[in-house]
Amino acid sequence: MALRFYNTLTLRVEEFQPARDLTVRMYTCGPTVYDYAHIGNFRTFTFFDILRRVLRDRGFRLDHVMNITDVDDKIIRNATAQGKSLEEYTRVYTEAFLEDCKALRLERPEHLVRATEHIPEMVAAIRALSGKQYTYESEGSTYYRIASFPEYGKLSHNDFTGIKAGARVEVDTYDKNDARDFALWKAPKEGEPFWETEIGKGRPGWHIECSVMAMKYLGETLDIHGGGVDLIFPHHENEIAQSEALTGRPFARFWLHSEFLLVEGQRMGKSLGNYYTLRDLLSRGYQPETIRYLLASVPYRKALNFTFDGLKSAATAIERLRNFRLRLQTDAYPEGMNEKLRERTRSAERDFVASLEDDLNTAEALAAVFEYVRDMNTAMDSGEFRAGNAGPALDLLAHFDSIFEVLEPSAAAAGLSDEEVEKLIAERNRARRERNFARSDEIRQELLNQGIILEDTREGARWKRKLS
Ligand code: AMP
Ligand code: ZN
Repeated sequence: MALRFYNTLTLRVEEFQPARDLTVRMYTCGPTVYDYAHIGNFRTFTFFDILRRVLRDRGFRLDHVMNITDVDDKIIRNATAQGKSLEEYTRVYTEAFLEDCKALRLERPEHLVRATEHIPEMVAAIRALSGKQYTYESEGSTYYRIASFPEYGKLSHNDFTGIKAGARVEVDTYDKNDARDFALWKAPKEGEPFWETEIGKGRPGWHIECSVMAMKYLGETLDIHGGGVDLIFPHHENEIAQSEALTGRPFARFWLHSEFLLVEGQRMGKSLGNYYTLRDLLSRGYQPETIRYLLASVPYRKALNFTFDGLKSAATAIERLRNFRLRLQTDAYPEGMNEKLRERTRSAERDFVASLEDDLNTAEALAAVFEYVRDMNTAMDSGEFRAGNAGPALDLLAHFDSIFEVLEPSAAAAGLSDEEVEKLIAERNRARRERNFARSDEIRQELLNQGIILEDTREGARWKRKLS
């Protein structure tokens, strides 16, 4: 079977091929660097990473652009309040984002591009849109006139006939002719930073940034455009309106959108205050690869409910795979090859690939691997496993890890010193004395995540380091 994706534009699962040669030209919407990203954001970025790896695994090359939104209303508000330049303010969060991506083993796109470094190109695009009569000005700002783009709504499948053009509304404190119209260029308010350009003083709107940077690096028609489902409308609809008005060509062939990370049924988000940053979870002792596993384990089009139990199961799942690998690497088996088990390895590999080809069904792909591990463990226990079966099994694990990348422990995990271990054990003893068993279990798990095994004896807790 071939690689298939659900395309938001057509509402269908379609076979994917890049338009030209074997290179996939892909654009994904990146972070707005006004604060630390939360793990909801990272669910979307992990989806992009899995998408990249599966595309490469299926033989394609990647040309992937992701933007960093380093100018927007929140950034300007916060930077101004702190008396910082935009650059000073956003540098911290841009660096933090890149560090977090690295910790989560997210591959870096071929082009990671900042909005503020593309202002002249955005101004040129806005001028071109004005030349084609797609814009109007109001109080120093430039707006896109949706009424001049009849296909508006084709991505979100919204019917806008009910919204009356010409009704004057105030949205975002800017004046617009039509509720759907959006700012391409925003005039500065008192005390705000701005760029001095041919279209006046101001700053770009969010939507134009993506259209301009996508087409600058990838050409007029992208193979894939991705983002979270919240971006379908209005952001991606607006990107289409701008880009297609400029070029007269389809902006993207495939539109892929990932569902939310939820907390107790609600979207994890800054405004609800129900969020964890990656740093929050690492400081509680969870490993980055555990978080990566959890975020990747549910297919991207299904909502994923975040719980600490879910994180614990993710840690256990990784542990099972590591133990299996260790067993393959270190145990001695009788010479020869068990052909039935070799065929079982092949079928596991086929199922693994087929699941990923099926619109990135990561849950099925993981199930294929875990069923396989169970079967192999059984074969090892019963003495059927042969030395010759170890190589193909290790190859399958390597293939699995080229997509999921969770088998190697993070560098920091190897680094708990004896003193740090003793300190955590002392804290656990204290928790037990206070009958705070939840905390004591949590510390045991933390230590286990760090490769430390605890054994409770009558003389107190003994510990040892795991060998893997
Ligand atoms: P932002 O930095 O706010 O522009 O968001 C970056 C990305 O995170 C966007 O693609 C959003 O769709 C995505 N996002 C925001 N909240 C969540 C969530 N709870 N679950 C999954 N993705 C999210
Ligand atoms: Zn975008």
